[in-house]
Amino acid sequence: MPIQVLSEQLASQIAAGEVIERPASAVKELVENAIDAGASTINIDIREGGRKAIQIADDGHGIPAEEVQTAFRRHATSKLTSSEQLEAIATLGFRGEALAAISAVSQVTVVSRAEGETSGIRLQLDGGEVSGRDQVGAPQGTVISIENLFFNVPARLKFLKTVATEKRLIDEFVTKYAMAYPHIRFRLVHDGRISFQTTGSGSLRDVLVAVYGAEIARELLPIGAQAQAEQTDEDGQIIEQELTVPSPITITGFAAPPSIHRANRNHITLFVNGRWIKDKNVTYAVVQAYHTLLPIGRYPLAVVFIDMPLNEVDVNVHPTKTEVRFTNAGQIFGKTQKAVRQTIIADTPVRSIRPGHFESLTQPSGWEGKANHAFGRQGDDPSWQQAMRHPNQPSQFDPNADQQGQMGLGLPRYTNDPQPIIGQPSGEATQMQNNIAGDKLPIMRVIGQVGSSYIITEGPEGMFLIDQHAAHERVQYENFMAAHARQEIPSQGLVAGAAVHLSPDQATLLESHTSALGDLGFDIEPFGPNAYMIRSVPAVVAHQDPTRVVLDIIADLERGDNPMQQKVEDKIIRRVCKTASIKAGQTLSRQEMESLIQQLEQCQNPHTCPHGRPTLIFLSVSQLAREFGRP
Ligand code: ADP
Ligand code: MG
Repeated sequence: MPIQVLSEQLASQIAAGEVIERPASAVKELVENAIDAGASTINIDIREGGRKAIQIADDGHGIPAEEVQTAFRRHATSKLTSSEQLEAIATLGFRGEALAAISAVSQVTVVSRAEGETSGIRLQLDGGEVSGRDQVGAPQGTVISIENLFFNVPARLKFLKTVATEKRLIDEFVTKYAMAYPHIRFRLVHDGRISFQTTGSGSLRDVLVAVYGAEIARELLPIGAQAQAEQTDEDGQIIEQELTVPSPITITGFAAPPSIHRANRNHITLFVNGRWIKDKNVTYAVVQAYHTLLPIGRYPLAVVFIDMPLNEVDVNVHPTKTEVRFTNAGQIFGKTQKAVRQTIIADTPVRSIRPGHFESLTQPSGWEGKANHAFGRQGDDPSWQQAMRHPNQPSQFDPNADQQGQMGLGLPRYTNDPQPIIGQPSGEATQMQNNIAGDKLPIMRVIGQVGSSYIITEGPEGMFLIDQHAAHERVQYENFMAAHARQEIPSQGLVAGAAVHLSPDQATLLESHTSALGDLGFDIEPFGPNAYMIRSVPAVVAHQDPTRVVLDIIADLERGDNPMQQKVEDKIIRRVCKTASIKAGQTLSRQEMESLIQQLEQCQNPHTCPHGRPTLIFLSVSQLAREFGRP
C-alpha cells in the first residue's frame, strides 16, 4: 500500500481514542470544562453507565455563539495561546482535544449561552460533522449531551466493561472532583436516580461526609492543622515564630487515623493544584507516613492536596492529564510524607489505641469474655453447656457419661494432645472446656451421606454422624480466624461492585462498623443517601450474593447485644463462615465429603460449630452393642 496521509476524520478518530477511552473519560473532560468555566453548579446525568447518554450541565461563563463551532475542532482551546503558558498551566484543560474527540465518536448536542449574550445557541454534531445549528433561549452556561458514544468505533464498544463498572468509574471521577471543589454543587444522577450530590457549601468536610459517610468523615484529621496552630511552650506561652518566607508548596487535606484502614491504595486521593492525579511515588509517601501504624497489608485513607508553583509541575505528560511530573519529586515526596505523618502522630496517643480491636481476637484474656472465640473455644455458649450437662437422652447412649466426666452424648476423649487453656477458667467450666474444646478428632473413614445433610464416618472406636453444615462452618471459622490472626484475610474485589440500599437505621449501624468490616475483608463505600456500594468481600464468600451477605450481617448486628453475645467482629465472622458453608440438603460427592472430614480432623475444636451447636454425634461400638442387646 502506498503511504497516504490519513483523512481528517480517521485521524480524529484515532486521536479521540487517546483522550476518550470510555464513558468515564468523557465525563471527566466535560466536568473539567465546567470547572474551568467557573461553574458553581454542575449536574451530571448518566444513562446506562454513559453508553447511552451523558449530559453535563453547568452555570459557567458559557461559550460565545461565534466560537461554538470552533470549540469542536481539534486543538481548539481558549486556555492557551503561547508556549510560555504551557510552562504554567492554571486550568484543568489546555490541550483543546476533548470536545473534538468526543464529537468524533458520538452524537453531540451543545446548548450554550455566554455571559453577556441575550440568547443561546444550539449546535448538533454527528460523528464530528455539524448536523444542526440554531438560536435558542437558554440560561447562562453550557449543557453538553452525548449520545451513543463509540457508535462508529465498534472495537472500542466491544471493550467497554459492564454498565456497573462504567458507573463506578464515573462515580470515582465525580467524587474526586467534588472533593477538590467543595464550593461547587455537584449532582450525579444515574438512570434517573441521584447517586451522589454535594451542597457546594465550600466545606471539604461536608463533601467528605457525602463521599465517605458521616462516621468516617468525623474521624478524619486535617493535615497540617497542628503546624498552623500556634506553638506554645510548656507554660503555655506562645513561642515567637521565626518570620520565614511561607513555603510555596503546601500540603493540606485530611488523613484518616490509623484505626481506619483499607485493603488497597485506592483510598489515597491526590490532587496537585486542584487536579486529581495518580502518582505512585506520592501515594507511597502517604503509605510511608503510616509506617508501623497500620496492620500489614492494609492501607490508609487520605485526601491530599498539594498546592505548588505551576511552573514546577508538568501536567502535559499524557492526553488524559492524570499523570504529572514534578521538577523536584523528592521534595514533594518528603513534604507529603512529613505533613501526613505529623498529622497522625499528633493524634495517635488518643486515637490509635482502640482496646479490644485486634487484640481481643488474637490474645484472649479470660474465660468470660469475647476472647474465647479466638481459638474457637465454645465453652461459653450456655445452650451447649446445658446440652452437655443435661443431654436429652444421655442414659440411652451412655449411662455412665456424667460420672466419667465425659460428654453426655457419649463422646470419648481423644486426648492425644490437649490444647492449652488460655486465661484462667475455673471449676466446672474448666472441666467442660477440657472435655469439649481441646479434643481433636481421630482419623475417620467416610461411609456415606444421609438425607443430603449428614455424613456418616467410622473412627477407631465407633461411628460418627456429622452435620455437614455445622462441620463446614467450624472449618471455615478456624481458617478465617487463623487468617485474621495473621492479618491476612483474603479479600475479593467485585468487578462491578454491588449496591445495597438500607433503612436510615441500618445505614447508621453499618457506618458505625465499616472499620470492623474493613478489617474482615469487606470494602463498603457510601453511595448516595442510605445506599452503599460493596467493592470487595472476604474471598470465602466471593461466590455468594454480596448484597445478601451484607444484609445478613446487618440483621445480625441489629439483633442487639445481650451480654452472652459476642463482639461485632465475631458476629461478622460467624455470618461470613455460615454463608460460606455447605448447606444442609446439599448432596456431596465422596470426594467432597472426604475433603470436609479431613479438614474437620485438623480443627482445634471440631465438636461444635462456631455458634455452639454440635457438629457430630458419636456412637461407640460398645454403645451399639448395648443398643442391640448384645451380651
Ligand atoms: P480544552 O478544555 O483543553 O480547552 P476542550 O476541547 O475541552 O479543550 O474545550 C474546548 C474549548 O471549549 C475550551 O477551551 C472552552 O473555551 C470551551 N468550552 C468547553 N466546554 C465549556 C464549558 N462547559 N463552558 C464554557 N466553555 C467551554
Ligand atoms: Mg477541556
